[in-house]
Amino acid sequence: EADTALHRVKETGRNALILFAHEMHQAVAEHYALEQDLRRALAQGELRLYLQAKVDAHGEVWGAEALLRWQHPTRGWVSPGQFIPIAEDSGLIVTVGAWVLDQACELIAREAERGRVLRIAVNVSPRQFLQSDLVGHIRQTLSRTGIDPRCLTLEITEGLLLKGTADVLARMEELATMGLRFSIDDFGTGYSSLAYLKRLPLHELKIDQSFVRDVPRDGNDVAVIEAIVSIAHHMGFKVVAEGVESAEQQAFLIAQGCDYFQGFLHHRPEPATQWLERVGLARPPAGV
Ligand code: C2E
Ligand code: MG
Ligand code: MG
Ligand code: MG
Repeated sequence: EADTALHRVKETGRNALILFAHEMHQAVAEHYALEQDLRRALAQGELRLYLQAKVDAHGEVWGAEALLRWQHPTRGWVSPGQFIPIAEDSGLIVTVGAWVLDQACELIAREAERGRVLRIAVNVSPRQFLQSDLVGHIRQTLSRTGIDPRCLTLEITEGLLLKGTADVLARMEELATMGLRFSIDDFGTGYSSLAYLKRLPLHELKIDQSFVRDVPRDGNDVAVIEAIVSIAHHMGFKVVAEGVESAEQQAFLIAQGCDYFQGFLHHRPEPATQWLERVGLARPPAGV
């Protein structure tokens, strides 16, 4: 009887292993297929730039965040949460990221020609920041488009700050000297130390939406937000709250002293040109 039981366990184990190997194979094949598709996506114009407004406490649009969208010919919309990690792994992020930066700068330039100030924040992933000739590329793009560099913010994550500190710092200093702004995205969700905050040329912290979701009910989230706002303001940074969906959250965040707000309550991400037709932007000389 013990033998049959043992036999059964072995069988189950083997089946589980086969199932596991099969699922692994599926995942790898899926990853590879998406990577191949992404390679062609840029050339075939399947990537789109969306913008989501960043508003102030009065609901005035201060700027926007650029968010990538991929309309795949057969899969439909693929979310950046799915394809950005693949782009990172494969190194495609360098090309994809350069495309996003160029698009953003061209939009800023086009609006400037219409006499409007458009500020755009672009997400820059760790590999893009470290592997590409980011500084050279941005320098070229700025001179080609002639935009005010203060209109361009780079959103980086704590993950980057864990990578190559000296190199990261040097690049950030160079870009900040050129006039670009830096924002820490998803602030509070990474594992980096707070010590970097005083060493890096930062302008802004973005409170991750996981902390915003349950305020004002969740006392722990309230404490985290209070702490972030306090640290940021003492260090001279602006604070953006991400994922603001309700008027109640908004009221709480205003009372906490957050400077800017992003979320479905205000605007959903929208195709860039469509968004720009609809939204009111400041005209110079309103300070950049
Ligand atoms: P993120 O930079 O933190 O962007 C914020 C995400 O929150 C966006 O998701 C946005 O659509 C979503 N969001 C905005 N308001 C709300 C809200 O009120 N409620 C909820 N539940 N969500 C909201 P999305 O567009 O799917 O992008 C996901 C992530 O993909 C981004 O997170 C960013 O890390 C990455 N990503 C997007 N575009 C790019 C890009 O051009 N380059 C790089 N490197 N990463 C990108
Ligand atoms: Mg972001
Ligand atoms: Mg974020
Ligand atoms: Mg995120």
